[in-house]
Amino acid sequence: MSLVVIDNAAIATVDPNGTEHARGHIVIRDGFIEQVAAGSAQRPTEDHDHIDASGRLVTPGLVNTHHHLYQWATRGYARDAELFEWLTTLYPVWGRLTEEVTRAAGAAGMAKLALTGCTTIADHHYVFPTEGGDQIGALVGEAKRLGVRLHAVRGSMDRGRSQGGLPPDNLVEGTEEALLGTEKAIADFHDPDPLGLIRIAVGPCSPFSVSRELMEQAAVLARRHGVRLHTHLAETIDEEEQCLAENGCTPAQYAEQLGWLGDDVWLAHTIHLSDEAIKRFGQTGTGCAHCPTSNGRIAAGMAPVRQLLDAGAPVGLGVDGAASSESGGLGEELKAALLVARFRGGATALAIREALWMGTMGGARCLGRDHEIGSIEPGKVADLAVWRMDDLDHAGIADPVAALVLGSAPKVDRLLVGGRSVVADGELRTADVDTITSDLARAAEVLR
Ligand SMILES: [Zn+2]
Repeated sequence: MSLVVIDNAAIATVDPNGTEHARGHIVIRDGFIEQVAAGSAQRPTEDHDHIDASGRLVTPGLVNTHHHLYQWATRGYARDAELFEWLTTLYPVWGRLTEEVTRAAGAAGMAKLALTGCTTIADHHYVFPTEGGDQIGALVGEAKRLGVRLHAVRGSMDRGRSQGGLPPDNLVEGTEEALLGTEKAIADFHDPDPLGLIRIAVGPCSPFSVSRELMEQAAVLARRHGVRLHTHLAETIDEEEQCLAENGCTPAQYAEQLGWLGDDVWLAHTIHLSDEAIKRFGQTGTGCAHCPTSNGRIAAGMAPVRQLLDAGAPVGLGVDGAASSESGGLGEELKAALLVARFRGGATALAIREALWMGTMGGARCLGRDHEIGSIEPGKVADLAVWRMDDLDHAGIADPVAALVLGSAPKVDRLLVGGRSVVADGELRTADVDTITSDLARAAEVLR
């Protein structure tokens, strides 16, 4: 039995009514939210942790819908390149990935996310070198150690250069091998318990690195096991041109042909979409992982977020791999998403509370978990971010949600995952950040 009471906090619940409290409290019992209300908490007679959150804003923990944690060890390459050039520069580096490197990069990436308000991480891992050991196992182990929620997307590539794909042949798996590896990851790690930290999804990498057969079979496999589907789609004009030349259709049309639109699918980037594609995403409930910083870093373009939201498609936020967004923090993507939407569509293109919704409930919908996480409501899992609002950057800002979205990314004072403090007093409590940092530096050196 555990009981936690958060008191004297500003609270943005992100519930269906957008309920907010200027001063309120939250009661957490055994990892679930029991109560959220205005005013002070009544002190329970039972033993409990009492958190005085004066000068703090509590929001649902942020949900990162797209990442490649291993890339934390390959930051700073192909600095002024677009996607295909960036990929061909990095593929040989990633070919040297070992289990130890992925473990170090994973821990570093997850620590950064926890310290920037993120409680749930969808990580798309698609590089499995022959000498690479247990790549998914390494990431799962680090998520459990740090105490964050991981949706490990077992990725794959089976279309090397000799088959007209972009990656070198030595970096791809056989089609059958990829499917077997995916099935093994589900059997080994998938945990459907609401408080469980690990879920598995199925994620062939992209149309230009995966065969038609693998895309189709992966969808069949995921649906047989009741897990979700994820891939990169419609990220760049180069991808669209290649898809038109090879398949005579756009990436969105190709995805639909392959059985890859649906409410059990979420897709990274979805930038270059026709009006018809946006409509189909809305009709089918296909989710979109919007990664504004990465999209800017490799000049991929600006996703039509306003149109996707208006069409009814779930849209969440992602940091993407740190090789294309060297910072890797999720809190700052709230502001990046807002700026990109307004560059594209003017001041009304995205409201600040819509940016927060995308970072929480939108992400939860992409991962099929909107009944469990993404808002502060009784019965939901207690995944919460407590942001400092009493420092130089934020004190006195009239609206705490404006301070969070428009201001500098605030410090995370505390991060609760299933009611457990992963961050407290602004510091990671489940692992030593200095050790993580030196391990990471060594891992990056190994790949160089
Ligand atoms: Zn990506």
